[in-house]
Amino acid sequence: MADNGRRKSPKGWRRRTLAVRGGQARSNFGETSEALFLTSGYVYAQAEDAEARFKGEDDGFIYSRFSNPTVGMFEERIALMEGAERAMATATGMAAVNASLMCQLKAGDHVVSARALFGSCRYIVDDILPRFGVKVTLVDGPDLDQWRKAARPGTVCGFLESPSNPMLEVIDVKAVAGILHEAGAKLVVDNAFTTPALQRPMEFGADVVVYSATKHIDGQGRTLGGAVLAGHAFIENTLKPYLRHTGPSLSPFNAWVLLKGLETLDLRVSQHCANAQKIAEALARHGKVTRTLYPGLASHPQHALAMKQMDAGGGMITFDIAGAKAGAFRFLNALKIVDISNNLGDSKSLITHPATTTHQRIDVKEREALGIHAGTVRLSAGLEDVDDLLDDIHQALAKV
Ligand SMILES: *Cc1c(COP(=O)(O)O)cnc(C)c1O
Repeated sequence: MADNGRRKSPKGWRRRTLAVRGGQARSNFGETSEALFLTSGYVYAQAEDAEARFKGEDDGFIYSRFSNPTVGMFEERIALMEGAERAMATATGMAAVNASLMCQLKAGDHVVSARALFGSCRYIVDDILPRFGVKVTLVDGPDLDQWRKAARPGTVCGFLESPSNPMLEVIDVKAVAGILHEAGAKLVVDNAFTTPALQRPMEFGADVVVYSATKHIDGQGRTLGGAVLAGHAFIENTLKPYLRHTGPSLSPFNAWVLLKGLETLDLRVSQHCANAQKIAEALARHGKVTRTLYPGLASHPQHALAMKQMDAGGGMITFDIAGAKAGAFRFLNALKIVDISNNLGDSKSLITHPATTTHQRIDVKEREALGIHAGTVRLSAGLEDVDDLLDDIHQALAKV
């Protein structure tokens, strides 16, 4: 593998082609499918070669905590699909979120973050960053004035999810990137809910994009993984040293699973969206559903913006069941196909009650302010026949 797994795909390939072929580096065996290199280390023909590699004069592999041919193919492919200069893979989505922030921050720095975040992302901005002397200002993501007021000299970066977990709040990425850039800060976007198949925040000015590859990128509930995508300078000078020396590396096996996941990402995400759109329309009409949030519905508060930033409404629907927690639990327990699980982006439809699971740690007042009520449930529409899903949802709603 003379090219060290870093072969650039010919320019001009479209995203679906890149998803199948981008970044592939064939070994001298000529395998059709990407090879799985389960190796922790690499050998050198002579001591001089080891010296050259450690000096950076030869870009061969050194150790799989730093890089690995299979992991490299995953990184190359996802970067090509995103339109990013570079990507680095991580063991989980949270390792990606943590590294994307910690690698660029030091005591005294300031961060502006949208308040509507996945529970663990909130833990990083609420608990971990302040412990190291980083000041954090939380804002209501869709309110651009709050970003304008919060950004100031000393602001190093902003952080947001769009659509957010679980309330599917949509934030104007271009406008927020503009505000942050004016203050000399970078924008980090957690794009887990859409993947590069639906939304590419760098097209709107984001500097860094992070993924939980555990979600739609694997998409079949098998492995954990993550990725940080950014420009060459940020990856090389800021992120790489942090990841190399702290070690949240993606295993080659998981990278291989995710690499194959990317090949079908576009097809799967299209079907997730089609199923979710039909389910959301049915929920919005149902008497026992008191609120339906789905970016693809005209009733979503940021529908127009969502359709500008995303190619479709996504695979996630958040809705409120009449009867608060008791109603929601009765509905969840009555479902026969849809599984109760806090995971998402799986081929199997999954549903969760955020107030008692993913967002349990956030106190009830803050939770209510975020719009997460006792009757709120979050559905990840799977790839089953949508009519079976609709039948299941209707029979369970009848029991509420
Ligand atoms: C799941 C998720 C994460 C964390 O990813 P893991 O792979 O579980 O570590 C981060 N951000 C968002 C928006 C998520 O949905």
